[in-house]
Amino acid sequence: MKGCYPIVKKVSFVTIVSIVLIFSMSLLIYAKEAQIEGENLNVRTGPGTEYDVVTQVNPPENYSILEESGDWAKIQITDEEGWIHKDYFSVIEEVTPTEPEELEQKEAISEQEDVTTEETQSDKTEEINQSGNLTGKRVVIDPGHGGRDVGAIGESNGYESRYTLRTANVMKEILENQGAEVFLTRTRDQYIPLTSRVSFANLHRADVFLSLHYNSTPEFPDVQGIDTFYYSDRDQQLAEYVHQGIISQTEANNRGIDQQDLQVLRTNHRPSLLLELGFISNQTEETHIQSRVYLEAISRGIARGLQAYFR
Ligand SMILES: [Zn+2]
Repeated sequence: MKGCYPIVKKVSFVTIVSIVLIFSMSLLIYAKEAQIEGENLNVRTGPGTEYDVVTQVNPPENYSILEESGDWAKIQITDEEGWIHKDYFSVIEEVTPTEPEELEQKEAISEQEDVTTEETQSDKTEEINQSGNLTGKRVVIDPGHGGRDVGAIGESNGYESRYTLRTANVMKEILENQGAEVFLTRTRDQYIPLTSRVSFANLHRADVFLSLHYNSTPEFPDVQGIDTFYYSDRDQQLAEYVHQGIISQTEANNRGIDQQDLQVLRTNHRPSLLLELGFISNQTEETHIQSRVYLEAISRGIARGLQAYFR
């Protein structure tokens, strides 16, 4: 039943695009993007399940479609390419005019028609948060682990490295809406040594460095909650503000803040925290972490904490 509406809407979208094309063909750059819908979607070397998996992608990421073949589309992921099955993404047709603003508005309207309820909610949250009081603050977000280092493995076999990257992407959006300048130590599933993550923070003169992690104690599956770690005494207040912000927005179990000798904090010259944002060995908490709404709550909490800290 749910499927009926998008078909109607896509028809109206196509109509708008065709009218635009007739009147201003030479002004348009036409591009298609894949909006990923499947969790841990395999990206393969060719258009079929017989091809090797090169990496995985996750919602709500978007990738440019380079080529299509049957039920498969070839996408561009940073510096590599691969094929994904059409059942697990939706196509966003982007029409970029070279100048008229009117066309951009039409494009925005048609994209809105295609968004899910969850995304509409998140737009609202972003609007509420659009006060811009982190303006000019440079935040380096470090999605823990990546590549051959998958980190902890969740109750449903999800990797910590993927959860941290997804969280970082949502957090980037929300902090940017507050006016912060946000830099990610990695934007894809890639191995990065701890020393490089720290030098990245120093190089970008971060006002704050946040290393994101998820915890796991498979032998105690009932354990859940959020921990915030700091190293330097000067960062205790930062830890208190950010931790309190996250707890107030997520209502997660409060495991408190703690001073710990962790390499990404000890060798960091910038104000820095390591956040253990939940236990993926706990089924309930892992389910929360898989939801964008929950990641937005975490991110909103961090934004509030940072606002209090910078005030
Ligand atoms: Zn970790």
